[in-house]
Amino acid sequence: MRIVVIGGGPVGQVLARRLAYHEVTLFDRPVTKPAMTLALAETTVKQLEALNIPLETGSVLQTVHVSERGVPGSMRLEASRLGLDAFGRVMCSLDLERAFQKSPSVQIDPRSVISVRARSQTRGPSVRLEDETEVTADLVCLCDGGRSPLVESLGMMPQYREFGRSAVLMRVEVSQPRMHCAFERFTRSGPLALLPLGGPRYGLVWSLPPDQAIRGVEDPETFLALAQAALGDLLGQLSAVTLPVVIPLVERWLETPYRPGIAVFGNGAQTIHPVAGQGLNLALRGVSRVVEALEGASLNDLDRRVQMGCRAWRRDRGQTRAASSLLEQVFAWHHPFRQLVSGATLSLLDHHQLAQRWIAEAGMGRYA
Ligand SMILES: Cc1cc2nc3c(=O)[nH]c(=O)nc-3n(C[C@H](O)[C@H](O)[C@H](O)COP(=O)(O)OP(=O)(O)OC[C@H]3O[C@@H](n4cnc5c(N)ncnc54)[C@H](O)[C@@H]3O)c2cc1C
Repeated sequence: MRIVVIGGGPVGQVLARRLAYHEVTLFDRPVTKPAMTLALAETTVKQLEALNIPLETGSVLQTVHVSERGVPGSMRLEASRLGLDAFGRVMCSLDLERAFQKSPSVQIDPRSVISVRARSQTRGPSVRLEDETEVTADLVCLCDGGRSPLVESLGMMPQYREFGRSAVLMRVEVSQPRMHCAFERFTRSGPLALLPLGGPRYGLVWSLPPDQAIRGVEDPETFLALAQAALGDLLGQLSAVTLPVVIPLVERWLETPYRPGIAVFGNGAQTIHPVAGQGLNLALRGVSRVVEALEGASLNDLDRRVQMGCRAWRRDRGQTRAASSLLEQVFAWHHPFRQLVSGATLSLLDHHQLAQRWIAEAGMGRYA
């Protein structure tokens, strides 16, 4: 089968490699992306390792500490106590990109795709490139990260929900690191995550109202002081390694991420709130569902198989999107009653191994 993959981000890279037993062409126009700190679930790590992607940088994730500023009670999830080797790995997105380059099993064509046509009764799906070349295929996989108007041009109308939030990303060092441990700290302004990158280095991700986020980028010193105040002495003294950058957050999803001869994956199919660190993990679980459904498919059967794969992924998509939004919304309600309940719940969960196991496995998409 001839398969065209549009987009060579992590999702397009994994998809192209998993379908490499077909004739795959991967188009990826070069763009500069910000360095993001990604929490890769153990299921994602396993999927990447099975493709021989060398994951050498960053830190294995063995502990997750969840707390709320000014509220007693916290939860500490420890992989070893739950019978797991690790929850996954934390890695810089640019290191992940380099890891793909070190294991180049699929050639990348750097031309930009400017339009896509779905399958019609008389012809297969096709793409048109920036130099006006037309490429026909049996299946076109859109992994453009929602970064191009291709989805809309196919008549697919994404649903949007504004969070009224932006993420501020920054690399920091701390004076009292705790190895392999990530911190999720809910603050009045929004959830703040500190993800271990090895040694004293952490990736800081703080979801904030847009005006506060902009102020943070304009005045990095005050931003760091606010982050320090939010974390207290959890990890000692914070110092900046990079300047903060801001990414506006929006929830965006396609109800049916397919058309005849077309399948949409990754951020193009759904962009979710990063609070639970699930966007890429969810997307790669979707890749697995569709790749499994395509095994042994014939040309006549292709569209039905894509639909089967997307349906198998549907519950996971819905649940992960809803859970990620809910987490932010619950902690955004500043009421003493809510704080009492969430503080007590975190304390209870801290001692409840079965519930912890459930949370850890849900984070890996095992119940969807
Ligand atoms: C602040 C923040 C924190 C996050 N943290 C986590 C986390 O901890 N864990 C997690 O799992 N996820 C996380 N995510 C989500 C994760 O970053 C995304 O889900 C993931 O990067 C999406 O990958 P992708 O391949 O779909 O898109 P992208 O990485 O955006 O790649 C799309 C590619 O397509 C190319 N492209 C676009 N249009 C065209 C075209 N017309 N022709 C050719 N090429 C094209 C682009 O150049 C690009 O290379 C986070 C997101 C944010 C914003």
